[in-house]
Amino acid sequence: MAVETTWVFVEEQDGKPAAISLELLTKARTFGGDLAAVLLGAGNEDLLAQLGRYGAKKVFHLVTDDRLPAAAATAAIADLVGTHQPDLLLFGLTSTDRDVAGRLSARLGKPVISNAVDVTVEGDDIVVTNEIFGGTRLVDTVFRAGAPHLVIARPKSFAAEPDEGVAPELVTVALPDVGQAGSAVVTGRHVEQREGPQLEDAAIVVSAGRGLGSAEKLTILDELAGLLGAAVGATRAVVDADWLPYSRQVGQTGKTVKPDVYIACGLSGAMQHLVGMKDSKVIIAINKDEEAPIFGVSDLGVVGDVHQVLPKLVEALRSR
Ligand SMILES: Cc1cc2nc3c(=O)[nH]c(=O)nc-3n(C[C@H](O)[C@H](O)[C@H](O)COP(=O)(O)OP(=O)(O)OC[C@H]3O[C@@H](n4cnc5c(N)ncnc54)[C@H](O)[C@@H]3O)c2cc1C
Repeated sequence: MAVETTWVFVEEQDGKPAAISLELLTKARTFGGDLAAVLLGAGNEDLLAQLGRYGAKKVFHLVTDDRLPAAAATAAIADLVGTHQPDLLLFGLTSTDRDVAGRLSARLGKPVISNAVDVTVEGDDIVVTNEIFGGTRLVDTVFRAGAPHLVIARPKSFAAEPDEGVAPELVTVALPDVGQAGSAVVTGRHVEQREGPQLEDAAIVVSAGRGLGSAEKLTILDELAGLLGAAVGATRAVVDADWLPYSRQVGQTGKTVKPDVYIACGLSGAMQHLVGMKDSKVIIAINKDEEAPIFGVSDLGVVGDVHQVLPKLVEALRSR
């Protein structure tokens, strides 16, 4: 068997496991064999129980303080890898995960494959799938360097589903002193003010493109989102123009979303945008250009001016 032991890196965020780590644990369960989580954070009972429900039989808990953790976490994980010899380590496409995976790759002298949308075990091979050309082509890569194999996966590549699970065995690991490399300290945290559902979790997303025309014209989108209980997303063009903050950007250099319904308003459907939303269940596009690429991935297309279509949509929803 190619994978006898899989470890999933779990960063604690606001007292909970990062959403991507639950997606990765769910996927890792399908490989069989031993499954452990490498938890980075303060830790708490609920969180540990949750990791157990998602399949972690063991949790290596790297206890953090106010230092930036990646350098020390890498040193600790490298030691654990030496002792326990896992076959596969899964990370999410987040800042800390990438930081640790990259450092670990250098430290262990093993390749890391990033941006994965799937990981499968085929006989003795671990096959990592990546999307290229805006998701129009898939590339499969097989590790040849010998274990441990390091993979960084894109968010929403796998659905997070709990299992019956058991309380995991807890192994507490103190972060080592790595001198200057680990001396940077977190001096403050900024929590973004948000109303309504979060973009990554919303069942409905309404997204703004440059075709909206100006920041002021986005109020109609907020109205629509309010009526639908949706989150507002945006293209990079909208973010670059400062109409909305970067946290709303969907796409290659923004967030990946997979809502039940994605309503694309006045956006062209550039490849870099499509990779962040093309797996939405139903895509509805409103664009005045019937040749716009977004119609190529849409289930329902409205060829029209957003300034006429959106007010009518809002009016129709209000009158229901
Ligand atoms: C390395 C790199 C990374 C990138 N990452 C991202 C990313 O993460 N996310 C992202 O979105 N982009 C990203 N981009 C940018 C991307 O290539 C496009 O430039 C961007 O997505 C275009 O945004 P847009 O669709 O809003 O604007 P445009 O492409 O200008 O499209 C505007 C659309 O609005 C339509 N329109 C105009 N007026 C109206 C109207 N009144 N009613 C209806 N329709 C109207 C037009 O027909 C047009 O189709 C990236 C680019 C690069 C090079």
